[in-house]
Amino acid sequence: MVPLALAGLAVLLVWVTPGLLARQPRFRHAPRAALVAWQSVSLGGILAALFVAPAAVLVLAGRDGIARHPWLTALGALVSGAVLVRVLVSGHLVGTRVRAARARHRDLVDIVAEHERDGLRVLQHPTATAYCIPGRSARVVLSQGVLDTLPRPELAAVLAHEKAHLRARHDLLLEFFTVLHESVPSTFRSRRALAEVRLLVEALADRAAVRASGEVATARALLAIAESRSPDAAMGAGTSAPVRMQLLAAGPRPELAVLAYGIALAALLAPLGLLSLVLG
Ligand SMILES: [Zn+2]
Repeated sequence: MVPLALAGLAVLLVWVTPGLLARQPRFRHAPRAALVAWQSVSLGGILAALFVAPAAVLVLAGRDGIARHPWLTALGALVSGAVLVRVLVSGHLVGTRVRAARARHRDLVDIVAEHERDGLRVLQHPTATAYCIPGRSARVVLSQGVLDTLPRPELAAVLAHEKAHLRARHDLLLEFFTVLHESVPSTFRSRRALAEVRLLVEALADRAAVRASGEVATARALLAIAESRSPDAAMGAGTSAPVRMQLLAAGPRPELAVLAYGIALAALLAPLGLLSLVLG
């Protein structure tokens, strides 16, 4: 029963739960806790998938019979190994792709933009645009349009938003989800889940902007750069602006954070608990 329960749990956490979470926009009011829940659900799903084969071996051979059934044990290791290899290969492919795209864009920005201090680059363009290129030599890119049109508090909000992305390495978080997204078979993938995680990351960076400049300046800054587009390799400040402005107006919801942390804990404990049933 336990191996079947683990397989069911893997499907539940990898496929069903992300779809359910993505349909719960209220968690956007607690973006940090919601992101922890998303990560734990993904990690719990992978753990459950990895544990199916060892649990099946333990149930079929018994704890003392593993040495007497080397082929069964080898088959179990092979199945778990295949799951792990799939995740690692996806990690390598996504990491290589993302870093190459970023390096190309960073080189381009360094050529065409004016260099300011602290990795800040200014593009001579009238459209109000702001984004960051994360990585080891990170850049914050602003257009001349942003500098010309935004008053000082709004400019500070935009900079705080971009610096929050870079400081908290939101790019690694998104990379983690992209790796998991691409490591599950395409029928189980949920584009909506990835879009929701992206929105949560933006909402989290907006919180940093509010701390720097207040809600009004942050909302105005969002509005000013709402129409701007940022390149795929970068993280832009203007995406999904209408939803984020609503979130700014509504403020944080601590009770939803508690619920999200509860989901996170349950998602991690469930596969460990099921495995302990066959170990104990
Ligand atoms: Zn952003």
